[in-house]
Amino acid sequence: MNASTNLLDFDLEGLAAFCEALGEKRFRATQLFRWIHQRGASDFEQMTDLAKSLRGKLAGTAHVTALPVISQQLSADGTIKWLFDVGDGNAVEAVFIPEDDRGTLCVSSQAGCAVGCRFCSTGHQGFSRNLSTGEIVAQLWFAEHFLRKHLNRDERIISNVVMMGMGEPLQNYAALVPALRTMLDDNAYGLSRRRVTVSTSGVVPMIDRLGQDCPVALAVSLHAPNDALRDDLVPLNRKYPLEELLAACKRYLAHAPRDFITFEYCMLDGVNDQPEHAQQLVELVRSQGVSCKFNLIPFNPFPASGLLRSPQARVQAFARALGDAGIVTTVRKTRGDDIDAACGQLAGDVKDRTRAAERMAQRRTVVLHKARPGVAADATQEH
Ligand code: SAH
Ligand code: SF4
Repeated sequence: MNASTNLLDFDLEGLAAFCEALGEKRFRATQLFRWIHQRGASDFEQMTDLAKSLRGKLAGTAHVTALPVISQQLSADGTIKWLFDVGDGNAVEAVFIPEDDRGTLCVSSQAGCAVGCRFCSTGHQGFSRNLSTGEIVAQLWFAEHFLRKHLNRDERIISNVVMMGMGEPLQNYAALVPALRTMLDDNAYGLSRRRVTVSTSGVVPMIDRLGQDCPVALAVSLHAPNDALRDDLVPLNRKYPLEELLAACKRYLAHAPRDFITFEYCMLDGVNDQPEHAQQLVELVRSQGVSCKFNLIPFNPFPASGLLRSPQARVQAFARALGDAGIVTTVRKTRGDDIDAACGQLAGDVKDRTRAAERMAQRRTVVLHKARPGVAADATQEH
């Protein structure tokens, strides 16, 4: 234990253990957890219902620190993207997407990603490092309390979290699970399991573990109806091919808060968007008996991918083909694309340890605002 312990790194169980180590009762952790996550407090002196002696001990051993905000961009459609500094030249992004009936935060789990999908700009950057639990939670902590302050609202603003920012969450499992638990905890954000979604490219053993440890809604990035094509688009498929992946999805359903898995399918012009691909998908999910919904994602192109977005008519025809076979299918609305906040555009700024030379040549993210750690930037002034 030392003064550098960031309390954002703990779920309630972890915080209780920390309090015990300070010689305090475990229930003090609940009060502290509420101050931090429900009220957005970072100054122990503010926590007036904690004994002065405890506040003193906390000040000597711990802190509550968000990630420094490098930039903040507001889209014409109300989407907000934050770029956070995670040190050593690395940055990660989080995106807030407001809708009439919900507020969704898209959260990053890694600086870069080691999976290297062909159609993903994060994948093209390579992998730098895993985020800690505190760095994952800090994105939600900052966004929720920033928005409350700026919208002058006291109640919860973020109702949904999707782990669909940068990185493969199931390749950062140890940090992910306490972060999910904090999101779900009634003494913190109190989000419903159905409204917290882990999106994965298909890390089969970790899908099983998540089902045991912390079952939340699951989205699986499928993108191809057969192994040959998926091997090419999502290299992880060579390790965990479709049959194994779908079997894991089926097992997950026994624990999942929803009675279906969402399959994400990025529509790539001439690559995976033909009528025979839709047919193969129908056969695949039928033969494996996985209860599922499809979410077709219009591809967000970037030059290095060499890929193009499928024309809208083809996306609609694909959706119809799946729908006619009885599979509920939606087409994702693209949000925030004027600020590069749409799916797969989250490039952050990753110091690529694996493929430095291939690093994205042009990052179009404009730095609009610099803020000191923990100091909120002003969303209302930026377009
Ligand atoms: N690594 C996880 C979560 C992050 S990616 C995963 O792959 O599921 C979140 C979603 O964005 C995935 O479905 C991914 O396939 C999709 N995506 C990636 N790049 C994209 C792009 N350029 N256009 C549209 N969707 C993209
Ligand atoms: Fe990684 Fe997901 Fe991008 Fe693939 S789509 S490279 S798994 S972040």
